[in-house]
Amino acid sequence: MSEGAEGPWRTARPQRPRAAVLSVGSELLLGDLTDTNATWLSRRLTEHGVEVVHHLAVGDDLERFAGALSWLSAQVELVVIGGGLGPTSDDLTREAVAAALDRALDHHPELEEDIARRFAAMGRRMPAQNAKQARIPRGAVPIPPVGTAPGFHLTVDSPRGTRIAALPGVPWELHALFDAAVVPLLAELTGGGVTLTRVLHVVGRGESDVAEVVEPLVDGADGTVLSFLAKGHEIQVRLTVSGPDRAAALGASEPLVAELRRALEGAVVGVDDEDLETVVLGLLRDRGHTLATAESATAGDIAARLGRVPGASAALAGGVVAYSARAKSEVLGLPASLLEEQGTVSEATTVAMARAVQQRFGSDHALAVTGVAGPTDAEGLPVGTCFWALAHADGEVEVHGRRIPGDRRQVIARLGSAALDLLRLRLAGT
Ligand code: ATP
Repeated sequence: MSEGAEGPWRTARPQRPRAAVLSVGSELLLGDLTDTNATWLSRRLTEHGVEVVHHLAVGDDLERFAGALSWLSAQVELVVIGGGLGPTSDDLTREAVAAALDRALDHHPELEEDIARRFAAMGRRMPAQNAKQARIPRGAVPIPPVGTAPGFHLTVDSPRGTRIAALPGVPWELHALFDAAVVPLLAELTGGGVTLTRVLHVVGRGESDVAEVVEPLVDGADGTVLSFLAKGHEIQVRLTVSGPDRAAALGASEPLVAELRRALEGAVVGVDDEDLETVVLGLLRDRGHTLATAESATAGDIAARLGRVPGASAALAGGVVAYSARAKSEVLGLPASLLEEQGTVSEATTVAMARAVQQRFGSDHALAVTGVAGPTDAEGLPVGTCFWALAHADGEVEVHGRRIPGDRRQVIARLGSAALDLLRLRLAGT
């Protein structure tokens, strides 16, 4: 049978169990606390094959909390609550779950003993108000504490049979109780299997430009979910894929990863853990080469990015932050006349910096950058005007310049990436 007008056979996208994260605490709504628990939980739930469809934060208000929980329980198969399990009057998770499900709170003597023992181990007597932490909704399974707050999980009496897991807000306690008690629930919900995210690191192209190339190649019919994440210095093309185990999920995604690499030509610097710095250092190490840096606008950011990669010392000789004109002339030895005639942000100055630092360190390669990071124009040049140069031990120098868009942080990050990418392309081509 030939393919009809509708195209080739498509498999239905497998349905993954859905989850919501409900974070509790007025500080979250006041803007005093960033909800890192929700991001951590999302990552872990996704890894285990669960699709997170809502993040919701509620303040310490019983009615709103119970209302939010009732609504979420009707949408998803799992609600993970973070916080509100402490001993004070504004810790409302136990009461809110009981109210939303119309259940009583039962006292669990074994939990109270556990909490009292934890206080005793710290040489303290358990305050009377902590006894309320041993009260959990009827029918719930207690999750023993690792700090002083126990959690619990239960199944809602509804056709959907939504699971609710309540975990303490303190991040390390939340992590430990999630691993101990929620991960086993996930295996029941998903029937096992893993979901992982492949990351293609793209440098030197804009997000919409990348999307235009990538989107037609990922149709999602096999359950692959495509997303883009613009970081300061790179665009990440992210493919979330599922499989019965890690090796199968990796293997199934490989042809698409290879196709995207080809389609984006040299702009993909690496995949998964291979970010730009790691790839550049790997290329230098493979050749036994060394690198020095002379940084003006980035103020050491390029060297710091390389320095964070384990084993950087094998290739990173060192660097100079030559920020002021005086530093450029006195530390790097650039002629004052050059700086006066060409300006500190210029092609000629950047070339001279790269040459000078290569000679000072005796390295195989040297990168230099100058630029106007903003927020205001400088030396008559508009914000974002940047130059980057790559010098080699044989005296050859290559220099590039353009206006880099973005705020100060983005200009600094993108300028550093432009310089590192120049070196990457040069090394990869040799
Ligand atoms: P518990 O349920 O353990 O009693 P709680 O909700 O009462 O926690 P708080 O006493 O408000 O939590 O906060 C305890 C600590 O946990 C604080 O250090 C706070 O910064 C941190 N924390 C609470 N919720 C979050 C969150 N959503 N993301 C990151 N940190 C959090």
